[in-house]
Amino acid sequence: MEKFNVIIAGGGLAGPLLANGLLEAGVQVDVYEKLKANAKRDGYSIRVAQPCLTAFRKFLSEDQCATIVSKLGSFEGGKETTPIWYDHNMKPLIDMQRVTAQYDGSAPMDRVVLRDILMERPLSEGIVHFDKSFSRYEIISKDSRESVRVFFEDGTSADCDVLIAADGSHSKVNQQIGLDNIVQVPVINFITKVKLSRAKYDLLPAAARRRPIICFSHKMTYFCVAYTPKSKSGTDASSGKSTNTKIDIDETAATFTFSLLMLKSECPEDIKEWTLEKKWSFLSEAISTWDNTFLQVIDVLKDVELYIFEPRASKRPAMDWRSSAKSASVPTAGHPRVWLLGDAMHVMLPNRGMGGNQAMLDTTFIAPLLKRLNKSAEARGHVSTAEVAAACQEYEREMIPRAFEWVELSGGTKAVPFDTNTYIGQLTCLMFRLSLDVRDRWNAVCRAIGMQ
Ligand SMILES: Cc1cc2nc3c(=O)[nH]c(=O)nc-3n(C[C@H](O)[C@H](O)[C@H](O)COP(=O)(O)OP(=O)(O)OC[C@H]3O[C@@H](n4cnc5c(N)ncnc54)[C@H](O)[C@@H]3O)c2cc1C
Repeated sequence: MEKFNVIIAGGGLAGPLLANGLLEAGVQVDVYEKLKANAKRDGYSIRVAQPCLTAFRKFLSEDQCATIVSKLGSFEGGKETTPIWYDHNMKPLIDMQRVTAQYDGSAPMDRVVLRDILMERPLSEGIVHFDKSFSRYEIISKDSRESVRVFFEDGTSADCDVLIAADGSHSKVNQQIGLDNIVQVPVINFITKVKLSRAKYDLLPAAARRRPIICFSHKMTYFCVAYTPKSKSGTDASSGKSTNTKIDIDETAATFTFSLLMLKSECPEDIKEWTLEKKWSFLSEAISTWDNTFLQVIDVLKDVELYIFEPRASKRPAMDWRSSAKSASVPTAGHPRVWLLGDAMHVMLPNRGMGGNQAMLDTTFIAPLLKRLNKSAEARGHVSTAEVAAACQEYEREMIPRAFEWVELSGGTKAVPFDTNTYIGQLTCLMFRLSLDVRDRWNAVCRAIGMQ
């Protein structure tokens, strides 16, 4: 009798984390990643917030969780590490810490460092297969039992009871299953990450050393964050207790990430071909009317390579999207043995730092459902497609409203989610701030009278 088994297509962030959870639960799992094992992976800073921490505590060892906490970034003079939202004159508008408790205790972390930790156990158990690019799947039926046959670009294939698509924002599985809800947003993202030496750190404007900066203005989104993991004698980001006011920089690990999103229609078509100097001048020119702080950041970075890409975002699917996708002539369409995880389902603009967090949180709902199916298979020899469909529906009923709320809060598929240089933008911001004030005062009253 063949054992219940799961294939995860994609070994980015959510795929390996889910693999940890399944290994812990005794579910047979394999991860197939399109890149080579030694591929030079890069990535930017990722905000590790409560959703991430919840998932890590569930699936990683205490040692691994402690390592992650020790590698979180810290900032000068305080424990808060969430971005401050400014207008283009550098007037603080909203402290993102106030927006949701999900940011509590959050801090930036280098994505490569995080992914290496998530990969430790799957690699040591030998279940990760590199250089295996998913190409398509088929639904096969043997002795009236259905399973999924997964094909790879190299012509090989593997069978499983459930295929988990964790193949990111360009998900092929998402297309093949007939959801196809990921679209290009008509913006260009200029992004760079630079190693942060003490000297470079000291050149940064004070605001950028204190907290991440975010600004939505002139149809652009400006973001920058220093990742400064504490060195042994420095500040403790997790407890917020500073051992001195000026943090020690671990120059081997510290980085600075800068990102500017601009309307595609306002960027020259051939900008990718421009010289580095010309690209940075273009960016400086675009924000030349802004407060000098924003330009000072660019001045520190302008000898560094810029990565230019067009971000994608997902459209919210109907709760019953699988029924609409189903087709008698295409058995793969909407099939419940294929589940979508993380960016393969709900890619969002990076404005709120929640894409990865929601992807990690997905795994905490998927793992127990797959564990339950595994138990059922152990008892009865095989899980029926109806049983898998019920579990899949349970997952999607939780995931779709939760994750798509964040897709929409991050701007959805709109090119300009927000603009504080317009009257509407200023009014919306004011209303938002007032609603936070009312909420906080109400909570304070409730606490005072013992209702909370
Ligand atoms: C600039 C930027 C900043 C961000 N900042 C934050 C942040 O601060 N906080 C936050 O929570 N999120 C952030 N995000 C979002 C976050 O990076 C993603 O939401 C997260 O990586 C999603 O994880 P995932 O595992 O679903 O996809 P990914 O991490 O993208 O992993 C997908 C994996 O699948 C592999 N793959 C692709 N195609 C195939 C195939 N055909 N076969 C096999 N493997 C395949 C890829 O190589 C990759 O390893 C940011 C994103 C960007 C672009």
